[in-house]
Amino acid sequence: MTHQIAVIPGDGIGQEVTPAAVDVLAALDPDFEFVEGEAGDAVKAETGEALPQATRDLAADADATLFGAAGETAADVILPLREVVGSFANVRPARSYPGLDAVQPDTDLVFIRENTEGVYSGIESEITDGVTTLTRVITEDASRDIAEFGFDYAAENGYDDVTIAHKANVMRTTDGEFLAAAEAVGDARDADYDTALMDALAMHLVMRPEEYGVVICPNLAGDMLSDLAAGLVGGLGLLPSANVGRENALFEPVHGSAPDIAGEGVANPTAMILSAAMLLDHLGHSDEAARVRAAVEDVLDAGPRTPDLGGDATTEDVTEAVVDAL
Ligand code: ATP
Repeated sequence: MTHQIAVIPGDGIGQEVTPAAVDVLAALDPDFEFVEGEAGDAVKAETGEALPQATRDLAADADATLFGAAGETAADVILPLREVVGSFANVRPARSYPGLDAVQPDTDLVFIRENTEGVYSGIESEITDGVTTLTRVITEDASRDIAEFGFDYAAENGYDDVTIAHKANVMRTTDGEFLAAAEAVGDARDADYDTALMDALAMHLVMRPEEYGVVICPNLAGDMLSDLAAGLVGGLGLLPSANVGRENALFEPVHGSAPDIAGEGVANPTAMILSAAMLLDHLGHSDEAARVRAAVEDVLDAGPRTPDLGGDATTEDVTEAVVDAL
């Protein structure tokens, strides 16, 4: 069966790493049809809209979407796109690789981040000059859904340690709800799990990441803790992610448009290529996904490497090496 893949490179290094992932997918020759859409700062400057309706429709109709990055318009692009694909779970694996100089070489973490609410609810206002507010929405339904997803993920992927991150000692009502709903899911399954205050957890993740596996998080905590974990394993150039819905999904690197290196051709394509591997898994091409991960690991170990990993290779050099390793 042919799968239609929406490809939305977006801005900055999204324009460089997205074609790299498409090259890798194309080299595997699965039955994919790629359809490209526009989004981000450049299309906003041209048309006034950061996420044109045609791109929304493309993502809605596709079997899966590969998204690069958006610059200043990121919130106007990725938040609605996650909604278009009905994504409630953001899966962000962070692991160290042989041969790379990681701060913590024994890291194998997966952040399961609630993807629809929390402080990213978008309900912000300026009450008066100099006084602003934000409404943090936490519902029992969304908290239960993300916990169910997290416990399922841990069981299906062989992770024994599940941690529920929260700050219910301060945000008593909202994180109280999140924690109670997530604990109820764990208890109903008779699962082994821990709970952790998210600030202390940040410290423990830096000092002893090997004691953790799957971390179920409210929205902002998942965003921040996964970037922290990127620092443990070698940087944002390595972290892929999946935005999973019930019937559709979108795959993107954890990093943004990286304006500081955009246009230089030196962005690390690994995060985007590993996002494509998650897409392959999602569409049932598990063997191909495993091949991509093995090829990426070979290249991370033996080189070539982009400057963020201490090398002097270009995005294209690394992509070609991954394709060759396949
Ligand atoms: P956003 O708010 O969208 O996350 P940002 O500019 O704050 O965007 P990133 O774009 O993720 O954050 O970049 C953060 C830092 O990490 C920058 O110094 C950037 O160059 C570096 N970086 C991010 N992605 C890559 C990559 N693929 N290869 C090399 N360096 C990267």
